[in-house]
Order: sequence, then C-alpha cells, then structure tokens
Amino acid sequence: MSGEAYDVVVVGSCMTDLVSQAPRLPRVGETIHGHKFFIGFGGKGANQCVQAARMGAKTAMVCKVGKDVFGDNYIQNFKNNGISTDYVEQTGDAATGAATIIVNDTGENAIVIVAGANMLLGDAELLKMQGALSHAKVLICQLEISPDTSLKALRAAREHHVKTIFNPAPAVPDLSPEFYKLSDIFCCNESEAEILLGETVATVEDAGKVSLKLLGRGCGSVIVTLGSQGCVVLSAQDSCPKHIPTTKVTSVDTTGAGDSFIGALAFYLAYYPSLSLEELARRANVVAGLSVQKEGTQTSYPYQRDLPEELL
Ligand code: ATP
Repeated sequence: MSGEAYDVVVVGSCMTDLVSQAPRLPRVGETIHGHKFFIGFGGKGANQCVQAARMGAKTAMVCKVGKDVFGDNYIQNFKNNGISTDYVEQTGDAATGAATIIVNDTGENAIVIVAGANMLLGDAELLKMQGALSHAKVLICQLEISPDTSLKALRAAREHHVKTIFNPAPAVPDLSPEFYKLSDIFCCNESEAEILLGETVATVEDAGKVSLKLLGRGCGSVIVTLGSQGCVVLSAQDSCPKHIPTTKVTSVDTTGAGDSFIGALAFYLAYYPSLSLEELARRANVVAGLSVQKEGTQTSYPYQRDLPEELL
C-alpha cells in the first residue's frame, strides 16, 4: 500500500472516443463515406482527473482498462499529464471502454458506448488504493463505473475524512440515497438534476429549487451547472441558493465542459480548503469557460499557465 499524499484521487472511467464525421448519419444496413476520423481520450473520470492535474494537483487515477492498444495509449496519456498510474489496472477480460461517435455536418450525433473494462473496476482495485486514499485531500466519483464501486470508494473516503465530490453522471432516477449522504459536494448539470428529481430545470430559479431538494436528500452542498449561465450553489449552512454567473465567451465546443468544471473544483478544494463554495464555483466557472473556447474534450482543457493570475 502506498501512503503517497495525493491532492485529488479519481475513482472512475476511461473511454476512448472513436469519432467519425460524415455528411449524414447512416441508415440501418448502409455504409457511407465520412470525411474525417479522430481518436480522443474521454470518460468522465479520466477527463476530471486530467483537468485537476493540469491545474497543478498531484493526482492519482483509479480505473481499469483493457490489455489492448487503447489501454496502453490511455496509460501513456495519464503519464503525459503527470497523473499517477499506480492504480490503473489492465484486464484481459474486457476491452478498454470505447465510445463510437458519428457526427453529421449539422452537429447531430449517434453514439454507442461500450463500458467494457470500466465495469470490472471493483473490490481488488479499491483495496489496493486504500493507502493512497487515506492521505488524499479530495476524492471524485461518477457513475460510469459500477455504482457499487463508486459507493464503496465514497464510503472509504468518509472513513478517512477525505472530502468528496460526487458527479451523478450518467444520471439514474433511482439513485441510492447513500450517494447524497456521502457527497460533500454533489455536482450535476441541469439534465442530470431533471432525471434525479423528475422535474424540468430550465432556468436559474429552477436550478435553485432543485438544489434545495438535492440538499434535502443529505448532501453537504450542491452545485448545479448551467452551461453559459454558470452555476447555482447551495451549502448546508445556507438556506438560499446562489447564482454564480460566468463571463461571456465565444464558445467553440462545449464537450467535456462539465468535467473541466469538476476537475478544477477539486483542485481548488484541495489547495484552498477555506474558500467559500461560491468562490470555488466562480473559479471553476472560469476554468471551464476556457475549455469551451477550444475544440475537443481533454485537448481543450487549460493548464495552470493558461489561467489569469487571480486564479493561481
Ligand atoms: P458536458 O456534458 O458538455 O461536459 P455539462 O452539460 O455537464 O457539460 P455544463 O453545465 O454545460 O456542463 O457546463 C459546465 C460548466 O462549463 C458551466 O457551469 C460553465 O462554467 C462552463 N460553460 C459551459 N458552457 C459554457 C459557455 N457557453 N460559456 C461559458 N462557460 C460555459
């Protein structure tokens, strides 16, 4: 067991994005020519870890990839971003998680995700990472791996007094009540809040209302992200949700903005634990706002050197 002191540990998913751009989406049984293909690194867990690392956090990723070329490439990608791969396991029992994405010329898409090795992340890997977790400052979990594994990681973090950020994505309507209670910060976007609570979230006011309901389920605090409108935050000490607007930017590609926000949030929580929730969210807004000004997911995430001085 390693006792290394990480700022941010992420227990979560890695996915290889296989993206084909074509004039239109093919019909059933049809083969068409596309005009561009690229491979990208994705998966919510890995994205969030990469953003935290680029901010300067000492990070470890706990995940499972296949014993295949995509798994090898992903491990190299973590290393290139300065992320510890001590807890990245390779399995011969499933392929590295992959998202096959077809995008047409008007930006519509069709996506097939095969979680593969992500779903095999379990007790053995959690046991191995206990030493690292016990010295960590922040743990982030999502729902792209087995929910049971995420729950166990969150429980272990609580035991070790490690702050937790839980991102209920992809959202499910019947999320176990324990997830709320184990979240120091429960961070979701509008559509995830809609699925969790079964009600429409279209305005800042709606986000305020759902944040009160989510807080009522036992979270320490709640953030609901609202794209170009920034986010709404609510902490248990406060009875009133607060809107944290963000600066207007020219958006090029918002893919992965939510993960950039969460990775940045984790960095600031680890480095400046006395900052208010409002200030943490304001800073995360700025970082995610930088990410939407560039194309791609991880390729768009800013480094510490790209940040305005007041955010360092
Ligand atoms: P994705 O699924 O694309 O990763 P998301 O839907 O989970 O994103 P959003 O709520 O769209 O997350 O965005 C997260 C954060 O990114 C916002 O709170 C905001 O800080 C920033 N952001 C997103 N879109 C914009 C935009 N158009 N302009 C400025 N900031 C943005």
